[in-house]
Amino acid sequence: MAKLIHNTEIAAMFDQLADLLEIEGANRFRVRAYRNAAREIANLPRQAADMAAAGEDLAALPAIGDDLAGKIAEIAASGRLKLLDEVTRRTPAGLSEIVALPGIGPKRAKILHDKLGVKSIADLAARIKAGSLQGLAGFGARTVAKMLQEIEARSSTARRFKLHDAESQAEPLCAHLASLPGVERAIIAGSYRRRKETVGDIDILVTCAAKHAAEVTRSFTSYLEVERVAASGPTRSTVILRGGLQADLRVVPPASHGAALHYFTGSKDHNIAIRAMAVKDGLKVNEYGAFLGAKQIAGRREEDIYRLFGMDYIEPELRENGGEIEAAKSGRLPKLVTVADIRGDLHAHTSASDGTLTIAEMAEVARRKGYDYLAITDHSKRVSVAHGLDEKRLNAQIDEIDKLQERFGRFRILKSCEVDILSDGKLDITDDTLKRLDFVYGAVHYNFELPREKQTERIIRAMDNRHFSILAHPTGRIINRRPPYDIDMERIVAAARQRGCAIEINAHPDRLDMNDVHARMAKEAGVKIAIGTDAHSAEGLEMMRYGIDQARRGWLEAKDVINTRAWPELRKLLKRTP
Ligand SMILES: [Zn+2]
Ligand SMILES: [Zn+2]
Repeated sequence: MAKLIHNTEIAAMFDQLADLLEIEGANRFRVRAYRNAAREIANLPRQAADMAAAGEDLAALPAIGDDLAGKIAEIAASGRLKLLDEVTRRTPAGLSEIVALPGIGPKRAKILHDKLGVKSIADLAARIKAGSLQGLAGFGARTVAKMLQEIEARSSTARRFKLHDAESQAEPLCAHLASLPGVERAIIAGSYRRRKETVGDIDILVTCAAKHAAEVTRSFTSYLEVERVAASGPTRSTVILRGGLQADLRVVPPASHGAALHYFTGSKDHNIAIRAMAVKDGLKVNEYGAFLGAKQIAGRREEDIYRLFGMDYIEPELRENGGEIEAAKSGRLPKLVTVADIRGDLHAHTSASDGTLTIAEMAEVARRKGYDYLAITDHSKRVSVAHGLDEKRLNAQIDEIDKLQERFGRFRILKSCEVDILSDGKLDITDDTLKRLDFVYGAVHYNFELPREKQTERIIRAMDNRHFSILAHPTGRIINRRPPYDIDMERIVAAARQRGCAIEINAHPDRLDMNDVHARMAKEAGVKIAIGTDAHSAEGLEMMRYGIDQARRGWLEAKDVINTRAWPELRKLLKRTP
């Protein structure tokens, strides 16, 4: 069987194509079409290559027309894309690798090439160290320092996968192992189980009687998606999957299941703290169990490890040695928010801006999910590549929603807008239109390079507008691609608290912004938190769980998240502090 091209690979090819076309100064709508396609493909629940092989019509997918469907089929069949090869060939050498560095992007890559003749990443690092970038527009000291850091990190460590990308490679493998004869459980431990936003590799734990271990190992190393077997032993093997992810398998007997699961879930710091407690009690805790002398006293179930020390069970997302052990000892652990707590989605785009479905179609998907409401938050006019709405179009959309609402009965379509925060902190839509909305999202989409003080002021000034309700993706980072812009998050949190504004955890797996640390900071400051998917399609609405993962890592409970409430209560929560 031919090698199956993974969705993440197809998406990466489209993203790369968009970057290179942008360097060439291609039509921005064309560039955008490839970016949207990359996003759609990355979010597909099934493998596009499988669909193409089965003769399904890919052109029916959101953001994919006939032309893109043809390109996907070409990639699926040959592993290559002729257009990408052509564009790569005519792109100056080295530029295509420079553009792929997070935080650089096509515009900066082009400047580096045109102004300085930078030819490769190594060349770029040398120029930075020689100070050649000083005074170059768009390359502030901080940006340059970050670039160098990124280049150095890249040469010293292997790449990390976004959780969503790791999941699409890891889950089918884990399900395969779970289905083998004699296997009691197969579970992915490590940072994956702690739901970190990126993972380096995955640790799969398979629990079975010793007599099945050899068969499990054989099945693992000969799995269809394995590119290369790095190591193979009776209880421990390592493979590299075709998507590039490294997977480690540990086969453990049922008597050690809980101890192994605890041990391999980590984090390292959490485990060290647990082991230190064990030593104090004269016990030993390792991946095989908890021992008093030579006698195993726990280890079959993970909960028992905690119970041994008189602690409540600690959810994996909290195991970072950030106070969870003390909280578990004194019964003060948070009751973490779950997907089931969510009553509606607060961030969604339609075909009025850069989404793929109409308002009614998006609302229908949300209603079928069992939600009580969906907020429509199309872009405002400044985001012209996304066909953002001006006052006239937004007013028309508000009227349209009012009319549509009659058809939807108890399910509510909330009227909102993702309004651009302009460089001076003004909002991109006038107040007399904003006041017609149920609530207003504010977002920074350009001028990311402002210095910390100015960027922070810009956002706080926007919050001063009494219609401003929720700050969207507060740092603007795109994981593995664009660093956060420089803001003083503590000041932003304090300002939001004072004004009664909420801050978003953007659930899109590329964003997850706020991150876990900021989410916890916001909660502790008493700031309300919204979780929105930033959906641009039906699939996009399914990304809520990644936002929940991040929220749980930030210690959030249902009461900390505003969209766990029914609309009447949510409406009250969105009211500003007078
Ligand atoms: Zn946005
Ligand atoms: Zn958005």
